[in-house]
Amino acid sequence: MLRIWKNELYDGFNCITSACPSNCCDEDWCISVDQKTYEALSELMGDINDKISSERPHTLIKKDHKCPFITDDGLCSIHADYGEEFLSNTCRSYPRFVSGYGDVYTMTIGLSCPEVARMIVSTDRIIRFTSEVLYESKNEKGKKLPKLESEVVMERTLSLFNKDRSALESFSCLGEEYIGFHDGIINSNIDEIMLKLRDIASEIGAVEQYDTLKLGNMHISMDDIKRVDVELKKHYPFLAQNICRCYLFERIMYNENVVNKDYADTFKKAEIYLLLFYCVLISNGIVAEFESDVVTDLLYRTMRLIDHNENIIELLSE
Ligand code: SF4
Repeated sequence: MLRIWKNELYDGFNCITSACPSNCCDEDWCISVDQKTYEALSELMGDINDKISSERPHTLIKKDHKCPFITDDGLCSIHADYGEEFLSNTCRSYPRFVSGYGDVYTMTIGLSCPEVARMIVSTDRIIRFTSEVLYESKNEKGKKLPKLESEVVMERTLSLFNKDRSALESFSCLGEEYIGFHDGIINSNIDEIMLKLRDIASEIGAVEQYDTLKLGNMHISMDDIKRVDVELKKHYPFLAQNICRCYLFERIMYNENVVNKDYADTFKKAEIYLLLFYCVLISNGIVAEFESDVVTDLLYRTMRLIDHNENIIELLSE
C-alpha cells in the first residue's frame, strides 16, 4: 500500500525544448548518469569517455558549460538519435522530482525550469497537492495507511498559505503556531542578509548569477519587502503563496528522513526563499510593473541561484 502526494502541475508539464529561453542542458550543473544508461550508451556509441566520465558516479563532461550531447539547435542528440529510453534518469526526470518516505511518495516539479516558472506565474488559483492511495494487493483493500508526522505538519502548514492572505501574513500565522519562530528572519536587517549572500555566492562560485539578478548594490528595508508582498498579491494573487506552497510541500516532507525533525528551521528557510525572490523583484525595479514574462524570468533565475546551490539557504539560515 502506497500513498502518492502529487503537485497538480506535475502531469501537465511538457518540456519546450528548443523554444526554452534557458535550456537546462546549457547550465553548468553537475549531471549524474546512472550506470545502466552509461553502459547502454557505451554499447551504442563506442568510447564515450570524453563525454561521460568513466569513473563512478558517472557525470556529463560539460564543454563550454554545455552538455556534450546538445545540438546547435538546442536539441538532445541522444533523444533525437536513439529515443527517450536512452536518457539518464536525471535528464529524463528534470524538472520533476520524486521522493520516497517509506510507503509515502511525493511528486513535484522544480521552479528553476522556465516552463515551470511560466506555469506557476500564470496559475490563477492556489496549487493543490493531491493524495492517492495505491493498493499493491487485494488483501490491502479497506486498510488504512497511517499518516506520517511530516504529512500532518505539511497539510496543516499548507492550509495557512491560502488565497485570503499574503505570503508574509501566512508566515506570521505560522509564527503564532510555532512560538519563537518570528524572532528569526523577518525582523532581521535585510542589508546584512544581502551582504552575507554576496559572501556565500562568491564562496560557492555563484557570483555571476548573483550579479545578473542585480543583487549587488541593494539597500532594501523591511518596508520595501512588505510593500512588494502587497503589490505582488494585487497583480498575481496566488503567486507568492504558490511559490511557498511548492517549497514547503517538498521541504517539510524531507524532515521525515532526519532523526531530529526541525520544522521551525524549515519554515525559516521557506521565508528566506521568498525573501530572496522579493529582493530580486525590488532590485530589478519592478514593484509597480509586474509583466508576466519579466516575473517568470526572474523567478526561474532566482530559483536556479538557490536550488542548484543548496548551501545558500542553509548558510543564510545560520
Ligand atoms: S529548462 Fe525546462 S523547458 Fe527548458 S529544456 Fe530544461 S526541462 Fe525543458
